[in-house]
Amino acid sequence: MSEKQAMIRVQNLKKSFGAVEVLKDINLEVKKGEVVVLIGASGSGKSTLIRCINFLEIKNGGDIFIEGKSIDPKKDDLSKVRQKVGMVFQHFNLFPHKTVLENVIEAPLIVRKIDKEEAKKEAMQLLKKVGLEEKADVYPSALSGGQKQRVAIARSLAMKPKIMLFDEPTSALDPELVGEVLETMKQLAREGMTMIIVTHEMGFAKDVADWVAFMDKGKILELAAPDEIFNHPKEERTREFLTRVL
Ligand code: ADP
Ligand code: MG
Repeated sequence: MSEKQAMIRVQNLKKSFGAVEVLKDINLEVKKGEVVVLIGASGSGKSTLIRCINFLEIKNGGDIFIEGKSIDPKKDDLSKVRQKVGMVFQHFNLFPHKTVLENVIEAPLIVRKIDKEEAKKEAMQLLKKVGLEEKADVYPSALSGGQKQRVAIARSLAMKPKIMLFDEPTSALDPELVGEVLETMKQLAREGMTMIIVTHEMGFAKDVADWVAFMDKGKILELAAPDEIFNHPKEERTREFLTRVL
């Protein structure tokens, strides 16, 4: 039996802002189809880590491999890398003057250079997947926060990424809208998407994560299956964090 392919491998990653070392020797491997949930206190480096994996931040040391290939930000075409590695943020940043459909077809038209009819067809399929087919022609201002975030997910999927990164995708939503976005992410997980998700939704993490990584002061202090992390955390600081958030 062959080992499943590592879609993402982070080796001895270091990142500083000025004199402050924000990521200290991070190691992480995510295999095809795995879901890794990153948890940890505010300021522990979760966003910086996934932004480094998407090359929105450039590492100061170590290596990042995407599908087995070490990415050199100086030599490699980072827009190509970002096509493979989609990202969804807390704030959805939809284009307000474009309809839902226009938001979803924008990047495929410009970056993938497919024709408009094909882009529309694909976009409608994606909107159906996130349950928003009937909203194709409305403007973002007519949508709830949960609907906007589902459009943002569809827009990201329109690039046909192999990996999806989510940075607190439900943190800006009213509580009653969180579930629909988590459900969309669960569906993606069931379909075998490789994902790293930063979230405070511990119930979701228990349900969906293959691995939970607890970050503390720029390090992954503990990485284990959800049952281990939530029921038998090894590190005192993991325990402390969980008693604060659960
Ligand atoms: P988290 O997502 O876990 O809350 P972040 O990755 O956002 O943590 O931040 C980790 C640390 O890096 C924090 O101390 C934060 O202030 C700092 N930081 C993040 N982005 C920048 C930046 N662009 N410039 C300077 N410091 C930053
Ligand atoms: Mg963050």
